[in-house]
Amino acid sequence: MEKKTSKAKQLAKELLYEPRPVASAETAEAAQNFCEGYKAFLNEGKTEREVTAWCEQLLLQKGYQPFCPGTNYPAGFKVYMVNRGKNILAATIGSQPMEQGFHINIAHIDSPRLDLKPLPLYEDGDLALLKTHYYGGVRKYQWAAIPLALHGVFCRPNGETVRLCVGEDEGDPVFCVTDLLPHLSAEQNERKLRDGIKGEELNILVGGTPVADEEAKNRVKLYTMQLLHEKYGIVEKDFIRAEIEAVPAFKARDLGFDRSMIGAYGHDDRVDAYPALMAEIETKAPHYTTVCVFADKEEIGSDGVTGLQSDFLFHFLRQLCAGQDADWITAFRASKCLSADVSAAFDPTFASAYEKQNSAFLGRGITVEKYTGARGKSSTNDAPAELVAYLADLLDENGVAWQTGELGRVDLGGGGTVAKYVANRNIDTIDIGVPVLSMHAPFEVVSKIDVYMAYRAFKAFNESLR
Ligand code: MN
Ligand code: MN
Repeated sequence: MEKKTSKAKQLAKELLYEPRPVASAETAEAAQNFCEGYKAFLNEGKTEREVTAWCEQLLLQKGYQPFCPGTNYPAGFKVYMVNRGKNILAATIGSQPMEQGFHINIAHIDSPRLDLKPLPLYEDGDLALLKTHYYGGVRKYQWAAIPLALHGVFCRPNGETVRLCVGEDEGDPVFCVTDLLPHLSAEQNERKLRDGIKGEELNILVGGTPVADEEAKNRVKLYTMQLLHEKYGIVEKDFIRAEIEAVPAFKARDLGFDRSMIGAYGHDDRVDAYPALMAEIETKAPHYTTVCVFADKEEIGSDGVTGLQSDFLFHFLRQLCAGQDADWITAFRASKCLSADVSAAFDPTFASAYEKQNSAFLGRGITVEKYTGARGKSSTNDAPAELVAYLADLLDENGVAWQTGELGRVDLGGGGTVAKYVANRNIDTIDIGVPVLSMHAPFEVVSKIDVYMAYRAFKAFNESLR
């Protein structure tokens, strides 16, 4: 009897796949160390502009030079390019000709948030408030009654861009969207959850002091505008020529008694951007030219000049090719791309939203997704099995913990990434990413092990000879 069991056990070990969490103290320590830098990065960059500026500073420190089209760069040379202050691309020239293809890592650096409307400021009930239009797929009820910070820019008539950031420093005031008290919520409680807070109820409280003159109208709005004028030299009409985002005011924090996780705003998708950047910077003499790309506008469909449906990346690649007199069509066809974006981690509290066998779990490493999309794989890059095999082998050979994952139960919902916009250019592309709990919430959760494995994955890809 006992012999039979052990034979079955042996058979199961040989034939069956049983994904497990990473349980190595050494790896956990390396992950803890790696994530100290990641938390600082999260706190320094809460908007696409801030992340771009932060990355540019670091790249310059690390010896990257602004990309100059038409240059034939030698192997190992490092260049970067900023697109309109909201995207950044960094590359290390490979020893192989560009016609052998690029190794591209892409993440996005925009996150769901509340954007101010063009004319946001108004007064009601002796309070000054700002009207917003939410950006990306937010569950609106999650954004009330939490501290918010305002980040953004005003563009002055002289062409100067003035930066605004209030709510991040310890001594700063913060802002918030208010919600009803439970004592008076009987009617609101009858709403569907998605309408718990409606779009036009996402109004941000910013002031309560009137100007002294009792004859004046809208005295609280006027006082608020007076403060803004003193501080930033702006008048109300200047809001139209601004880009201001309200984001959660809290900092990234270790989560759990074991500190194995990080709770923060904006993991989606900075949790892939930071590891990709670190891997790019540490890549010294790659075989293939590596390109690290941070896209904007992913959360609203990748449209626009800074989104991946624009040509900013493909122009950059073509200009790199032109410097070597290389045929870009051949180079694209030979390239490989890891489209890095977060995946949905299994949540035991909401288990029915997932199909457990094909879900990603916190702490099992980076997720490799053959496809994303929704309802019959609609609107996805469904990566060829050959490419999945390439990546699986690469990760295994380099000891990178990885798992597979699908975005929840079939027909429940779904989602997309930028992968298809790259694949549509005849570049082999596959989705990869760190699993997240409470995705798109003001406070998202990731596992440090997974963040570290993302870095290891990008590094292995950059250094690969295949
Ligand atoms: Mn994302
Ligand atoms: Mn997202």
